[in-house]
Order: sequence, then C-alpha cells, then structure tokens
Amino acid sequence: MSPISATLTPTPRPSTRRPDLRLYERRESQVRSYCRAFPRTFVRGSGSYLFDDEGGAYLDFLSGCSTLNYGHNDPALKQALLEYIEKDGVAHGLDMHTEAKAEFLQAFETLILKPRDLDYRVMFTGPTGTNAVEAAMKLARKVTGRTNIIAFTNGFHGMTLGALAATGNGGKRGGAGLPLAGVTRMPYDGYFGDGIDTADHLAAMLADPSSGIDAPAAILLEVVQGEGGLNVASDAWLRRIAMIARNAGALLIVDDIQAGVGRTGGFFSFERAGITPDIVTLAKSLSGLGLPFALTLFRPGLDDWTPGEHNGTFRGNNHAFVTAAAALKHYWSDDAFEREVARKSDALKGRLETIARRFAARGLRVKGRGMMMGLDVTSGEIAEKITTACFARGLIIETSGGHDEVVKVLCPLTITDGELTTGLDILEKAVTEALGTELPAAAE
Ligand code: PLP
Repeated sequence: MSPISATLTPTPRPSTRRPDLRLYERRESQVRSYCRAFPRTFVRGSGSYLFDDEGGAYLDFLSGCSTLNYGHNDPALKQALLEYIEKDGVAHGLDMHTEAKAEFLQAFETLILKPRDLDYRVMFTGPTGTNAVEAAMKLARKVTGRTNIIAFTNGFHGMTLGALAATGNGGKRGGAGLPLAGVTRMPYDGYFGDGIDTADHLAAMLADPSSGIDAPAAILLEVVQGEGGLNVASDAWLRRIAMIARNAGALLIVDDIQAGVGRTGGFFSFERAGITPDIVTLAKSLSGLGLPFALTLFRPGLDDWTPGEHNGTFRGNNHAFVTAAAALKHYWSDDAFEREVARKSDALKGRLETIARRFAARGLRVKGRGMMMGLDVTSGEIAEKITTACFARGLIIETSGGHDEVVKVLCPLTITDGELTTGLDILEKAVTEALGTELPAAAE
C-alpha cells in the first residue's frame, strides 16, 4: 500500500479543442522546444497546476525544469513581491547595495550557510544557470592558472560556449558553431555499469604524466544528472572525486542548478556525501517564484576577481532577491520542509518501483533521487509515447537522458499527497497504454 494518503485535489482537465498555433509558427523561431510537446497557451499557474486559455487544467510534473520547487505563485513569495512592488522597491540595481540584496544575503547566511557550517563568498552572476557555470569555470582557471576542466559523460551545464564545452549532449554541442575547447570528458559514476569504478579510472589518468590529460583547473559535476538521465553519483564516489581533485591541485565544482534548493532532499545535493565543494553554482529554484537569479559560491580564499571582471547588467534582479529571501524564510527556517520532501520522495520512489516491477519484463527501472526521480523506459520513442499520453490526460511531464529514454518526475516539492497520487496514476495509465499489454503485477 502506498504511503501517499488520498486527499481531495482538483482534477486535471486537458482541453480537447485543437489549438491555433499559427501565430507561433509564423513568428516564433524554430528553436522553440517545450511548447511543441505541450501546445497550449497557458494563462495561469497555481500550486501544482497550469491552466490554459480554454479552461484546461494540467498537473505540472515539469515545474519549469526544477525552477518551481515551491510550485506556481507560492502565496508567501507572491505576497512578498507584491508588497515590495507596491512600495516602489528598487527593481533593477546592477550590483548596487539594496535593501532587497541585503535581506537575501542575510537570510542566505543565517538560514543556509551557517547551519551547514559553510563559508562561501556569494557572487551574483548574470541571472541564468549557464552564466553561473561560466563564472565558476573562469574563476577556477584564473585561480589555478590551468585551462583544462574535467567534466563527465551526460553532464549538462548550460548553453553558452564555456558551459557548453562541459555539456555532454551532442545535439546541444552541435549548435556551438566552433570547436568546444578546454574540457576533458571522463566517465560518470556507473557509466560502465556496476563493477567498474570510474573514480579509479580518473585517478589513474591524472596520476600518469603520459595519460595525455592536462593538469585540471577543476573537476565539474552534478550530484544527480538532471538532463543526462537522472544518473546518481554515490556518496563514496563523490568523496573519492573530492580527494582526487585535492590531490591533483584542482578545484571541485558542484553544479547544483537543477539538483539543489531541496530537489534531492537537502538544500544542497552534496550535503549527504559530507563533501565541501570549492565552488557551487545555483540558479533555477533559487528565486522560488521562477524569476531569473543565479549564484556562484566559492571559498573566500578563491575570491581572486578584480571588480567587474565578470560583469552583467542583470546581476541585480531585486525582485528575485525579494522572493528568494521570502522562500528561505518560509521553507528553510527549520527542517520541516526537508522532512516533508523526504517523506514525499519515499512515496514517489515506492510508486515508481511498483510501476517498474509491473513492467520489469520490458526493462523498466527507476532512476534518480529525492524528488528528482523517473522511469527509464528503455527508448526515447517509448518515453515520448508516454509523455504524449500523459499530456492527453492533463499531466505535463518531460524526458531526459542521452536517448531521451527517462520519463522524469519533477513535480513541485510542495505538491499535495493527493496531487502526487493523481499524477502518478496518470503516469501509470500512460505507461500501460504505451507498452501495450498490461503484465500481471509482481508479488509485493
Ligand atoms: N546546470 C544544470 C545542472 C542544469 O540543469 C541547467 C539547466 O537545465 C544549467 C546548468 C543551465 O541553466 P540555464 O538554463 O538557466 O542557463
């Protein structure tokens, strides 16, 4: 029996009329992507739901790719922003001192850094994740005087050229238009299956002066690879990599843009492994309300920047500072939210495992950690059938992985038990529909 309790929730009601897409087809670039899978015009977002212009209601298991960990328009965050706008609070401030920035820094120091015994300088980068990664890579190169950065198979770090060089996805790399340099790719934890420790492989390559690997400025990784297919690095592997980095004189950069801000349980995804990265990147759910906001954090001793050396007009998104501070105060003042996320993660895992067991003969398996879990359904074609069938039932859900073979649950962390059950019921129906014959349930 699933530990998710059945509570009353709104029912997903997809619109059935064929949408008129002529405006988008005529005027918007071909580069558009998510809107192709979810071809509706959305007008409202509330909690775990999105609503379209025909009154259709969709349960959102994509959450802006983990940007809406607190759901759409969280009332506490929205109220804080409305009050700030109402009093003519500074909206844009370059990197000037503002009341909103001070409140954010204070809350971040008191509620996030101090309780975790972390001493990081906070760098406000341009507001996208990729900009925070660029800053991290630049800083590591500047501090060490080295150029090479080790990144991993299936890693995803952003679309600007430095971060793209560290990204594994061939389709995205293909858009660069020039050779992507300065990064050496290494196999992530588990890349060759059980029994091959890829940390050994990395250690051996770095210890051999004739391996052809230039001494690295940094080792850059995600603790759970969001876009790369929900691959999870074990705590032991992470500790090994941290030690390998230290021995090689390289900095450890954890890209926590998707896995951070509670998505895998703790505020930072690396907490449970007991490692302290030299540099950390954060973005996506940091503002809490979906407003662009990114940070690069680093040990104070690494703060080698000269003023303005990594600049950006939108480093002072004060509206995002307001909602981010409100989110920290509302959700991270004690461990209640973390415990709640852990409870829901267990429920999510249990339910996904039940589905995977039913279709074990078809090779289904559960991947991921925390509220960043999904089903590897063995091919991108099957995954697309499933996500399409989900959307037809009012569930927005996407895929990830090298072949888009993982159906990824990224629902809001604030989702109710009833909504989670409803969404997973739809997912199970869609899996059953996509895979044809329903197999008998395996014994519990
Ligand atoms: N790093 C990780 C781990 C990500 O998942 C992403 C985006 O999905 C990025 C970096 C890039 O962030 P952005 O799209 O805000 O540039």
